[in-house]
Amino acid sequence: MNKAKAYSAASAVAPLAPEAIQRRDPTDRDVQIEILFCGVCHSDLHTVRDEWSSFMPTTYPCVPGHEIVGRVVQAGAAVTTCKEGDLVGVGCIVDSDHSCDACRHDVEQFCPDATFTYNSPDKHLGGVTYGGYSESIVVDESFVLRIPTNLDPAGAAPLLCAGITTYSPIRRWGDIKGKKVGVVGLGGLGHMGVKFARALGAQVVVFTTSPGKKEDALRLGAQDVIISTDAEEMQEHAGTFDFILDTISADHDINSYINMLGLDGNITLVGAPEKPLPVSAFALLFGRKSVSGSLIGGIAETQEMLEFCGEHDITADVEVIPIQKINEAFERMLKSDVKYRFSIDMASLKDE
Ligand code: NAP
Ligand code: ZN
Repeated sequence: MNKAKAYSAASAVAPLAPEAIQRRDPTDRDVQIEILFCGVCHSDLHTVRDEWSSFMPTTYPCVPGHEIVGRVVQAGAAVTTCKEGDLVGVGCIVDSDHSCDACRHDVEQFCPDATFTYNSPDKHLGGVTYGGYSESIVVDESFVLRIPTNLDPAGAAPLLCAGITTYSPIRRWGDIKGKKVGVVGLGGLGHMGVKFARALGAQVVVFTTSPGKKEDALRLGAQDVIISTDAEEMQEHAGTFDFILDTISADHDINSYINMLGLDGNITLVGAPEKPLPVSAFALLFGRKSVSGSLIGGIAETQEMLEFCGEHDITADVEVIPIQKINEAFERMLKSDVKYRFSIDMASLKDE
């Protein structure tokens, strides 16, 4: 086994701190990766603080991180998809059963036996899996993605979760060219949603609670920005949207966004607040509207998204931080003070 430096949380109230963890010896099918950058997803914070305890309680110590970009340092004898020196990515899943309906339909994230990158039973070592806030990781080649070489690695890391989580529901909606698409919340997921919807030709409108993000929203590709706390502004756009992507990480009134939809409009939730969101039946009935959810994306679709980003030169807007600033970054994320994703430079872990 290999020892790796990492940052972990010892409990739901403990700050993240340095810790040495074990990584398995690579098998023939495994890829050993030196992690260069890891994005900071709000799911990392939810998990570290055990905010999803009713669905997936956190096992401590917890090493979060599922937006990983790194270099292959060793590829097992049976590995065919990458070689030493390649720039690769790892997202939210590191294993699945390869045989169930979900796996056969390329939606491994719904495999009943999926192994998530962190806080999931570790089939090799026992205990739970440890994520990307670490200097290295060992992953089955089926879950290792190719990163287009024209993309900046720090900005590419968030594509592995924030990217695919927004790309997948937008693509599934259908041809959004010329459609009026709302993105609710301009954070890590939201700013990627704006970039993808714009690149696919939609008329993009951002809903934000932060007036200070208005100019950025326009620069990122939105044609309009609605301050969601302004009832008049909201009323002006009521009933006009074809599709809305809701990325809010906290409790909020989803009915006010359902009211923004036109006939047969759909709002898809990707944000995962701790508490249930009450939905008004009447808000849905009038206009035959629907509410859906979406969870990351399968491996094939994640690769497709990365190629799309390569072609359109799309990466996340990142603030690169050393790992030593991670606790501060979590607090800033809670204040919606991220422009628009923290990306940890893992070279900083060498100082520990
Ligand atoms: P983030 O960077 O913190 O962005 C969330 C944004 O939501 C904030 O920037 C803010 O935008 C808005 N917001 C926050 N609190 C709010 C409140 N009380 N009322 C209204 N708006 C609020 O988080 P993220 O990393 O994008 O993640 C967003 C959510 O998606 C999290 O719950 C995360 O766990 C979840 N997630 C789900 C998946 C999936 O597969 N479904 C994948 C990754 C993450 P404004 O300042 O613009 O208002
Ligand atoms: Zn994530």
